[in-house]
Amino acid sequence: MRELMDSYDVVVVGAGPGGSMSAYASAKNGAKTLLIEKSQEIGEPVRCAEAIPSLDDFGIKPSPEFVRNEIKGGFLFAPNGKRVTVTQGKATGYVVERKIFDKFLAIRAAKKGAKIAIKSRVVGLEEEGDGWNVIVKHLDEEYAVKTKIVIAADGVESNVAEYAGLKAKKNPLDICSCAEYEMTNVELLDKNMMEFYFGNDIAPGGYLWIFPKGDTANVGLGVRGSKKKAIDYLNEFLENGLAKDRLKNATPVEFKVGGAPVGGPIEKTYDDGILVVGDAAGQISPLTGGGIYLAMDCGLIAGEVAGKAIKNNDWSEKVLSEYERRWKEKHYECLMSHLKYRKILEKMSDDELNALAEALGDNLDDIDLKKFVKRILTKKPSLIKYFKDLI
Ligand SMILES: Cc1cc2nc3c(=O)[nH]c(=O)nc-3n(C[C@H](O)[C@H](O)[C@H](O)COP(=O)(O)OP(=O)(O)OC[C@H]3O[C@@H](n4cnc5c(N)ncnc54)[C@H](O)[C@@H]3O)c2cc1C
Repeated sequence: MRELMDSYDVVVVGAGPGGSMSAYASAKNGAKTLLIEKSQEIGEPVRCAEAIPSLDDFGIKPSPEFVRNEIKGGFLFAPNGKRVTVTQGKATGYVVERKIFDKFLAIRAAKKGAKIAIKSRVVGLEEEGDGWNVIVKHLDEEYAVKTKIVIAADGVESNVAEYAGLKAKKNPLDICSCAEYEMTNVELLDKNMMEFYFGNDIAPGGYLWIFPKGDTANVGLGVRGSKKKAIDYLNEFLENGLAKDRLKNATPVEFKVGGAPVGGPIEKTYDDGILVVGDAAGQISPLTGGGIYLAMDCGLIAGEVAGKAIKNNDWSEKVLSEYERRWKEKHYECLMSHLKYRKILEKMSDDELNALAEALGDNLDDIDLKKFVKRILTKKPSLIKYFKDLI
């Protein structure tokens, strides 16, 4: 017999940015909330390049406790080295220390009243009356926690939504496989600018990044459907890539691997007593692989909707559908257009990527994809075959 440890209104699975923001909003709205994390330390292991476009949108002050660098834009490099500089808009933001930032977000949720269980892995969900028994494994013990609503924020390898009967498994072809070194002694072009490198020999199906982090920089890449492993492409770039002269003295202080689900959102992110948030829901840009902001924002909405459902004593599918309506209103169009652009970029040869960079010119004042397309079509009409559906 499993012991029933306690009962909650809302159980959030996964203390990443999505889960901690969900727990924060749920507890703030008066629901008795438990946040469950399988790792023994929130924020570990890091699988991220740690760039986020805004903290201010969440009322979070960019504290030096977790902000390592302010970002003013990015340099995009074509395979032949042609550089396009992007400033302002979504290309700006911060590079954070995820180990500290994720813990900060969990503490913020706890300050609103959420309880946290660490080194506790959710291994199953059982329907129980009008709620769930969440089955948790902690050390060698298994126990059950009763709850009305579960928020599945368990990341790219999510199982929890599937336990609840939702279709949430990601197609392996839509997972970007990433490898990254955090390195010191990187000679940066500009300590406040991110660098992005594109090319079928550099990072097929993805791109390579250098994100400055103060004394260090995250140097990593993501690939899909590639012949070699992500780490092989990364090592090759360090040795022979476009930035090899600036990386020759670089040395790693940390190695990170992980997957980014870049296939777009899952079909349905709610059902009776369940909401799905963040990477688990495919709420991550298919173009850039950026998911921290989306996970946080969708987590906030999920927590609010869950809190309200508890107050009104109704956590049916109909009531919880408000979550999907609200997050889709804000983010769906953008996610789907990023998916289209990703599919275009991955079809291009290196010569076409070079032509694209040429067409974009030297400077862009924002990553406004519609402006991009207009400029490309005026300057390189030969690329029209890729972009005609977007006009
Ligand atoms: C190499 C790499 C670089 C990236 N760089 C960036 C970047 O620069 N900027 C950006 O915005 N995004 C980036 N991303 C994506 C970003 O990391 C994710 O989109 C973001 O972390 C999603 O947050 P989340 O809360 O949904 O999931 P996660 O942060 O993955 O959190 C999920 C949590 O759930 C826990 N968990 C999983 N299963 C269980 C279980 N059964 N029981 C209990 N706990 C469980 C996990 O331990 C984890 O803590 C990158 C991804 C990769 C792989």
